[in-house]
Amino acid sequence: MAADKLFWENPYLTRCEATVTSVDGPAVTVDRTVAFAFSGGQASDSGFIGGYEIVSARTDGPEIVYTLPAGHGLVPGDIVTVEIDARKRIRLIRLHFAAELVLELVTRFFGAPQKVGANITAEKARVDFVWDGSIASTFTMLEPELRRLVEADLPVESDFSDAEAQRRFWRVEGFAQVPCGGTHPRTTGEVGSVRLKRVNPGAGVERIEITLAD
Ligand SMILES: [Zn+2]
Repeated sequence: MAADKLFWENPYLTRCEATVTSVDGPAVTVDRTVAFAFSGGQASDSGFIGGYEIVSARTDGPEIVYTLPAGHGLVPGDIVTVEIDARKRIRLIRLHFAAELVLELVTRFFGAPQKVGANITAEKARVDFVWDGSIASTFTMLEPELRRLVEADLPVESDFSDAEAQRRFWRVEGFAQVPCGGTHPRTTGEVGSVRLKRVNPGAGVERIEITLAD
């Protein structure tokens, strides 16, 4: 039985009690968790399990395997607290969703250019496209459209499209429905104020870099 991923039901939950379900050297699994593992370009959370720092986290099918420092001493059946860095989580929620809004808007307004990469950390998000010329030409559309979506503070619905396979989606009524297993805000307003920057990482590829403006 894979860990119950509480971050889907409530992405603002930053701690929970859990039971250790398996231990294999530094690798530990728990029955429920608030700590996201790198997936879909969204970085893992920083945090602690039973007071031990999470060194890394990875998905293994529906399971999340956390690597703790060697010699952590936890054993199956131990009751532990799982806690994450709340500030980092909120930044990840905002930057991840801003990147998704940018991707949707560019797709809609510019004939679905090929996305060749995306990455979201607590510092910045980036989305890379196959693109001729400067992608800064999209900013006269993107900046006001993003502002409009944020100011409208529209509800963001997040749910399973297939609970068995743990496939998730988010939807903003009248805007988009997108498959994604990341952590999403409850409303578009939570994205807040962001800045866009053009980066040219290589021939024929253009990057939109997103940072938080506050
Ligand atoms: Zn997402």
